[in-house]
Amino acid sequence: MVKWIQLVDFQCPACPDKRGGNWICASHGNPVYLNENGVMECSTTCTGKVINWRWNCGSSYHNGEYLKADLEGFTFALSQAVQLMTKGGSEWTAKLITELGKQYGQ
Ligand SMILES: [Zn+2]
Ligand SMILES: [Zn+2]
Repeated sequence: MVKWIQLVDFQCPACPDKRGGNWICASHGNPVYLNENGVMECSTTCTGKVINWRWNCGSSYHNGEYLKADLEGFTFALSQAVQLMTKGGSEWTAKLITELGKQYGQ
């Protein structure tokens, strides 16, 4: 069963500034959720794989641009998100790591 977890207090995975925050979809203003299949969602019609999702934490590095995260950046952000992994549990986290590896082809 798919478990969606809201991305709160999650570091930006797409830039070196790694500014943390509660992620909101730029297009719709909804909170953003992540599941163990490596899929992001703000609503059923606004969804996509982590590899295709674009991030902007508002730091100057972005220069207003929404950037994709690489595997290293995303797994680092994930490793810092203790609350999120606790909510998901160890199986959820392990599945997510596996799926991310598939997405990024590693
Ligand atoms: Zn959206
Ligand atoms: Zn950023």
